[in-house]
Amino acid sequence: MTFQNLGLAEELLQAIESTGYTTPTPVQQQAIPAAIGGGDLLVSSHTGSGKTAAFTLPSLHRLIGNRPAPGSGPRVLVLTPTRELALQVEQAVKTYGRNLRWLNTACLVGGAPFFAQVKQLSRPVDVIVATPGRLIDHLQRRKLKLSDIEVLVLDEADRMLDMGFVEDIDAIVAATPASRQTLLFSATLEGVVGKLAERLTRNPQRIEI
Ligand code: AMP
Repeated sequence: MTFQNLGLAEELLQAIESTGYTTPTPVQQQAIPAAIGGGDLLVSSHTGSGKTAAFTLPSLHRLIGNRPAPGSGPRVLVLTPTRELALQVEQAVKTYGRNLRWLNTACLVGGAPFFAQVKQLSRPVDVIVATPGRLIDHLQRRKLKLSDIEVLVLDEADRMLDMGFVEDIDAIVAATPASRQTLLFSATLEGVVGKLAERLTRNPQRIEI
């Protein structure tokens, strides 16, 4: 199995080659073609499995295939439990998107200056990576619209629930279109995560690694 077999755009394959990866990891082999297919996914995966690329690559693939209308808001939103993880995910988006000259990202996390983030949002942004609490602040102050979101990713959904973000997540999801694609990644898909998944996804494909 190679990355070429997964159906990814040439710009992404070149970026993957520059990183030195030769073979997709098991979660990438399953999740990337499934996500390109457009449906919702529930993926059980842990740190170190290559899960970040498993959701970043198909999300960028979708952006490449479908350019935004003028004045469009962000089209991909990734929620993570912590500031550190958000920064890592944003870095991955930039690495895999290195050949996409038009790509703009913003990282909205707590503990960073609010108005510097507002400034980031004053230009067109394609991909937002955020922690739930800070994203809610931006929504409440009307600094951000989520009505153009095409792909919503919940990374480490179990940890977000453990940290008490359930109400924030529900409020954020309510601001996104029902027609979005939802990709939920979590160490476990049982219990409260399963309940969240039932609320947020439609006919999801389960991928258990
Ligand atoms: P993650 O599980 O997303 O935190 O990724 C774990 C580590 O694996 C990161 O350092 C990635 O850069 C690396 N990685 C992701 N995909 C691959 C791959 N297909 N081949 C080699 N390394 C990878």
